[in-house]
Amino acid sequence: MSRAITFPATADAASILEIDLGAIVDNWRLLAARVAPGLCAAVVKADAYGLGAAKVAPALAAAGCRTFFVAQLDEALAVRAVLPQAEIAVLNGLLAGTSRVFLDARLTPVLNDLAQIERWRRKGQARPAILHVDTGMNRLGLPMADVARVGDPGFPVRAVMSHLACAEDATPMNEAQRQRFEAARALLPAASASFANSSGIFLGAPYHYELARPGVALYGVNPTPGQPNPMRPTVRLLARVLQLREAAAGETVGYGATFGLERPTRIATIAAGYADGLLRSLSNRGRALAGGTTVPIVGRVSMDLITLDVTAADPAAVEPGSLVELIGSTHTVDDLAAEAGTIGYEILTSLGRRYHRVWRG
Ligand SMILES: *Cc1c(COP(=O)(O)O)cnc(C)c1O
Repeated sequence: MSRAITFPATADAASILEIDLGAIVDNWRLLAARVAPGLCAAVVKADAYGLGAAKVAPALAAAGCRTFFVAQLDEALAVRAVLPQAEIAVLNGLLAGTSRVFLDARLTPVLNDLAQIERWRRKGQARPAILHVDTGMNRLGLPMADVARVGDPGFPVRAVMSHLACAEDATPMNEAQRQRFEAARALLPAASASFANSSGIFLGAPYHYELARPGVALYGVNPTPGQPNPMRPTVRLLARVLQLREAAAGETVGYGATFGLERPTRIATIAAGYADGLLRSLSNRGRALAGGTTVPIVGRVSMDLITLDVTAADPAAVEPGSLVELIGSTHTVDDLAAEAGTIGYEILTSLGRRYHRVWRG
């Protein structure tokens, strides 16, 4: 007789990632209201910035979102599997040999060069596509010099789009890109325009056009760095305390002995590490919330474990088995990103696969 072995319930999981779908929907509604009468798409590439496109995309569709952008073809197919009707556009373009998949799954290619435009003219069965113009990123999209060579592409142009390089900064480059976008549109078939990412929406109405493409703001990252965050937080990351110890002054903590203790210190070891996306650059720099008290990460982040100095925390609230908050509404994704020396985008898309994930709303 063998007893079935089941995965621990949330109450027992080592580390828990709570994702608030209601907050993501609220964030989309706030952005959609801001860009109205233009429409608001949702960028759900990289598995909805790590939060689960199979859950996020249907929640946004139910709220009225009709257009979704992904980076890769396989991401588009995953969204198509849960949204049979939505418009799904693939930012990375129309690679050779993939037209059939685009047609079968009714996907909209974003055409990034003249060869892709020609490919869709021959293979696309007069289905619509988006034309992407590079107005200053030098990344993807038709170079400005090629825009005049497009002419009549032979298929409906769903939209002309471009992408801002510095949308979160007040820099003249934004308006320079917008002027180039206007010049490109004048040379292309008349079509609706798509220009603004999350931060671009906050540059004002001239940047909105007919279709905005926010990603990161949907997931709660501040699209207006340096100013209060208009978005709701969407994730809460909790890790369990595995062990506590009192370490003496003069001892060190963790690999490389990088943190020397100047006083007797209560150390909590928690069940998450760089294998879970808690970047090693948080070593001796990151913070967490233990029993309501903000406490520092001491020593190096290791693969599966992080050590916290919880001397200042309420001992009754920080015991083996208690949960410590690494991301939440008081210690946000942006806070953790700043401590790690990166941006919220990288924190979210690095969130690991070992968390017990719970979607709410
Ligand atoms: C990722 C991406 C977006 C979304 O950008 P956010 O800054 O996350 O809002 C929009 N457009 C393009 C072309 C992108 O690559």
